[in-house]
Amino acid sequence: MDADVIVVGAGPVGLFLAAELKLAGAEPLVLERLETPSEEPKARGLGALATEALWRRGLGAQLAEADVEGTKDLTRDHGTTRGHFASIFKIEPREDRPRTNIWQPELERVLAKHAEGVRVLRGQPVTALESDVDGVAVTAGQTWRAKYVVGCDGGRSTVRKLAGFAFPGTPALLRTVAGQARFAGTVPPPGRYAGGAFLHGGSMVGITEPASNPEPVTPADFAASIRRITGADVVVEEFREERRFGDQARQVDDYRRGRVLLAGDAAHVHSPSGGQGLNLGLLDAANLGWKLGAVVRGDKPEAFLDTYTRERHPAGEAVLRNTRAQSALLAPGPHVDALREIVAELMDLPEANKYFADLLSGVNTRYDFPYPATKPVGQHCPDFEIVDEHGHPSRLHEHTRTGRGLLLTTEQMTEPRVDVVRVTNTGPLLLRPDGVIAWAGEGSPATALTTWF
Ligand SMILES: Cc1cc2nc3c(=O)[nH]c(=O)nc-3n(C[C@H](O)[C@H](O)[C@H](O)COP(=O)(O)OP(=O)(O)OC[C@H]3O[C@@H](n4cnc5c(N)ncnc54)[C@H](O)[C@@H]3O)c2cc1C
Repeated sequence: MDADVIVVGAGPVGLFLAAELKLAGAEPLVLERLETPSEEPKARGLGALATEALWRRGLGAQLAEADVEGTKDLTRDHGTTRGHFASIFKIEPREDRPRTNIWQPELERVLAKHAEGVRVLRGQPVTALESDVDGVAVTAGQTWRAKYVVGCDGGRSTVRKLAGFAFPGTPALLRTVAGQARFAGTVPPPGRYAGGAFLHGGSMVGITEPASNPEPVTPADFAASIRRITGADVVVEEFREERRFGDQARQVDDYRRGRVLLAGDAAHVHSPSGGQGLNLGLLDAANLGWKLGAVVRGDKPEAFLDTYTRERHPAGEAVLRNTRAQSALLAPGPHVDALREIVAELMDLPEANKYFADLLSGVNTRYDFPYPATKPVGQHCPDFEIVDEHGHPSRLHEHTRTGRGLLLTTEQMTEPRVDVVRVTNTGPLLLRPDGVIAWAGEGSPATALTTWF
């Protein structure tokens, strides 16, 4: 074996997963197609759950530093730091949960540093994959063997195709193209038009139009799109740094086929509306890393990995649902205009506003556990202050760097399977390595400890 686990793709999800595997005592090997990291801006934000996941591994200071620039850029481009649903920018950020405005290339630099010590081989496009009872053989120039392979190779995942996963879902309704443009003469004001949406502000210009329209490639095509959308003739002299994305929504039914697993965009694709893809993928990695580590170490049987799909598939499904709803609200036409006005009015109600904030951040995600449990068990634990038996205050995330489970207890006790901290300001709590509450104070933690550790 060349490694315990081959991770295909050194995007954000692959890098975080590899670091989690290493922390769990497994030996990962990352194979990445690109010679150098991508500088494509793509995502520009992390929601509450992903931010907290990275805090738990000690990356809070790096995220806070990047957030300063990221927030400036966001305010410049959107004119607000409020979140949006289908480009209705009304969502007030939750004050009790964090978010981070960070460009994806910067995040990848932070994660690459975090994964230092992991073998990452660049310029290695994976082209073939075979699995047998003992392991997998992955070909990228040469052939590498490992016990498991995880495809973190993005929406067009080669691993997904080679391993024969079906990818059911819905095709794209809308296409968005955005970038930096230079116009000669005047341009129509930003807004929704009969043929789609024309947006400009800060440094960005963009169009959203039906995916059935001809795809704009050259500056002249881009001008033609603007004419189709707004009816106005414009001259586009230059169009660069473009980003384009559609809103097809697809998800694999099972995130594992034998020794092949998928995480991040490889397992699910959807429109970037509301900025949720990165959160979803990093949470997949947080969920899978410690579990696969336990299986590789021999502490857990392979069937333990079934909890990965059981927990993460519904989380992905929820994002596909809300991004499809956003696409419906982004389509052109007077009926949709009317519906948008009503949704915008609803968002002025504080309860509804919070509903949208919770929906997009995923904070209400609750996993279905194989033992009886009530809320907040199954949910991701927010960060909070704890006070130890000596009266010393600290934050919860300062106690989670080992990647082990964590038991907060009010009694003097030892429990070798997890880290133990005696606390005086909160009830007892058992956290899994991914920050999910496994048990909270009622009865004994024995079942939860045996189930997860
Ligand atoms: C325009 C745009 C805006 C977005 N905005 C947001 C946002 O604000 N917030 C948010 O949360 N999400 C956003 N997203 C989504 C987010 O960018 C993705 O969800 C995220 O990149 C997924 O990470 P990943 O690691 O799963 O895949 P990727 O980032 O796609 O990484 C996959 C990696 O695998 C490598 N690879 C591919 N094939 C192979 C192969 N055969 N062999 C070896 N390596 C391979 C690739 O080179 C790449 O490095 C946006 C996306 C787009 C397009």
